[in-house]
Amino acid sequence: MEEEKKIKRPRGVARLIVGKCIACGARCEASCNKDAIEMNAKGEPVINTAKCIGCRKCVKVCPAEAIEMYFTPEEQKILAEIAAREKKAGVKEVSTEEAATLAEIKEYKGVWVFVEHNEGVPAVVSWELLGAGAELTKKLGVELCSVVIGDKVENLCQESIACGASKVYVIDSPVFHYYRTEAYYKAICYLVDKYKPEIMLIGATGLGRDLAGAVATKLSTGLTADCTGLAIDDKGFLLQTRPAFGGNIMATILTERTRPQMATVRPHVMPMPTYDKSRKGEIIREAVPIKEEEIAAKVLEVVEDAKSGAECVDLEGAEVIVSGGRGMKAKENFALLQQLADELGGVVGCSRAVVEAKWMPVDRQVGQTGKTVRPKIYIACGISGAIQHLVGMQSSDVIIAINQDKQAPIFEVATYGIVGDVFQVVPALIKGIKESRGKT
Ligand SMILES: Cc1cc2nc3c(=O)[nH]c(=O)nc-3n(C[C@H](O)[C@H](O)[C@H](O)COP(=O)(O)OP(=O)(O)OC[C@H]3O[C@@H](n4cnc5c(N)ncnc54)[C@H](O)[C@@H]3O)c2cc1C
Repeated sequence: MEEEKKIKRPRGVARLIVGKCIACGARCEASCNKDAIEMNAKGEPVINTAKCIGCRKCVKVCPAEAIEMYFTPEEQKILAEIAAREKKAGVKEVSTEEAATLAEIKEYKGVWVFVEHNEGVPAVVSWELLGAGAELTKKLGVELCSVVIGDKVENLCQESIACGASKVYVIDSPVFHYYRTEAYYKAICYLVDKYKPEIMLIGATGLGRDLAGAVATKLSTGLTADCTGLAIDDKGFLLQTRPAFGGNIMATILTERTRPQMATVRPHVMPMPTYDKSRKGEIIREAVPIKEEEIAAKVLEVVEDAKSGAECVDLEGAEVIVSGGRGMKAKENFALLQQLADELGGVVGCSRAVVEAKWMPVDRQVGQTGKTVRPKIYIACGISGAIQHLVGMQSSDVIIAINQDKQAPIFEVATYGIVGDVFQVVPALIKGIKESRGKT
């Protein structure tokens, strides 16, 4: 039997329903990526149908349902034909609106990772996300791509490929030398509109959080911040898992009806991919028409973080962390943990209870409202293992827990558990390490 010719579903164009606009403040104009809407003196939209691509963003944001999609009589005939075919094929009947949304979603393909950097120096989280993205693409059977935006950033394209990207979209121009929200979100929205990725991953750093929020808002799509797990379900949706309700439960969130599905992930949550310099990939160079004079924010001076001195501890980058909780009883007892950390070439971290007691500064806090760490060894001393602490350290390679309460939840994630008093166990560990090195 001859196969039926595939018909392209018409998208229509947006049209104002006269008399319904409430002049809400130009939400429709702000939602339009194609500059197809301008407001008139009465605060009502004037839609340029030549520019409209039928994306329906304005229809969705209008609080007064004052914008509808218009289809020409020919387009209506095609829609009727598609509906008849689908009915014959037993496809569940859906509204024109729903069908258009589903058709639009299907146009989006591929997993994208935004490569964060500071004047060309990459943020490690970007490579971790390429590792996580590779797992997602395997399940979806699509391409893994990276997005590099900056000034003289060719090295980052090559590194992206070495970390697993098969395609790199690069925008290289002096206007992107420093990160500025406006320039970067516009550049990403330009690429998304043109190439339509189904998933976009960004590091949950200060920069990433700022950028992801701006992009998701402009694209009117869903964004799950601070994910600790990513997976693909049977229908191909991105399962975005993150702590919710103060960290008491883990919530899995889906972006069902909009694209791309956006998620931010904290550094050190995902493992690094294998780095292979021999990998080959395609580099697609794009130019975005953004001029310096159009960007409101100017970078006058870059001031180094005052804390980046000798006393600054890189908890997130440490390979060994000796962390103390309320069980350490007092501020001065952290000297004992420092001794153990020194023996192991590590640093000292802590729980929030310790920060609240003012025994340690907040930059040493591990957990949901502190740092997320992934050291080779994490030694938890007198820490109960509340979920808010666990989400910040449970991906560590080896977890050693010392607690006098054998029921403490920390033992559920521990590789090795020592039930005992920290004030006996830790000195014994220090002594044992010294002896094994012949130091005594
Ligand atoms: C929204 C929100 C965000 C939060 N964010 C974080 C976060 O980022 N990081 C974080 O850590 N917490 C966070 N918390 C707090 C968290 O819920 C816990 O209260 C906190 O982690 C408990 O710290 P702890 O384990 O040191 O203290 P406790 O829960 O009091 O545990 C002390 C442990 O020490 C053991 N112990 C006592 N004496 C000894 C001894 N001599 N030898 C051995 N063991 C001993 C006890 O058996 C006990 O298990 C957050 C809470 C909320 C609501």
